[in-house]
Amino acid sequence: MTLHDAAGRDRLELAATLDAKLESLDLAGRLALAAELGHAVFTTSLGIEDQVISAAIGTHRLPIEVSTLETGRLFQETVDLIGETEERYGIDIRRFRPEQDDVDAYAAQYGLNGFYDSVEARHACCHVRKLKPLAKALAGADVWVTGLRRGQSGNRATTPFAEYDAERNLIKINPLADWDIDTINAHVERQAIPVNPLHKRGYPSIGCEPCTRAIKPGEPERAGRWWWENDEKRECGLHVPENAAQPVAEPVPQAS
Ligand code: SF4
Repeated sequence: MTLHDAAGRDRLELAATLDAKLESLDLAGRLALAAELGHAVFTTSLGIEDQVISAAIGTHRLPIEVSTLETGRLFQETVDLIGETEERYGIDIRRFRPEQDDVDAYAAQYGLNGFYDSVEARHACCHVRKLKPLAKALAGADVWVTGLRRGQSGNRATTPFAEYDAERNLIKINPLADWDIDTINAHVERQAIPVNPLHKRGYPSIGCEPCTRAIKPGEPERAGRWWWENDEKRECGLHVPENAAQPVAEPVPQAS
């Protein structure tokens, strides 16, 4: 039986076994193991951690598909980095964009920037611009590789190397779970990995332009994401079940 045919229970057990195994490997080894499991997809936000992973995939020619969610609201610096990374590492980064009908329907219901008005409106926007494209990016995948790190926020402090994502029936591999930001910075410097210039301007974590601000000295790494909301565990829903840590976005009516 291959991982592709494995039932959820088998994938759950496999994730527990993998977690210990991954801990003993270096980054390239962790990614190689992820690729051996089945069809592996890495979703990059072009953030500094994700650039480390893209560089390793390209340098070691690993059979891992690289995808990004082009939300339509990204910083120009982020969009520019997609092409630069492809060229530097000889990889193709697949772009997944929101459906125009969904975007139009969202704007009609909430306003283009309605995400500032309520948590519900914000989740509805992330649903249209991120979660639906993510579902397409992960369609047919057995393994989802991410750049999550324990040091990014309290919400991510217990990130394992491998976990079973029951909602998507995937094994999620987080090969940088135990890397701290100093290790990331030193690695990027050593390997001359291209990174988003916004990092040097006070943006350790970069999402959509209207929803990301620079952080002040001493603030947590993700304090600049959806800064107007009070919930310290705020996330966009990519890495938490849609019906768990946050309100479920109301389905956005299709434009007629
Ligand atoms: S981060 Fe902001 S602009 Fe981007 S999808 Fe979420 S609410 Fe919309």
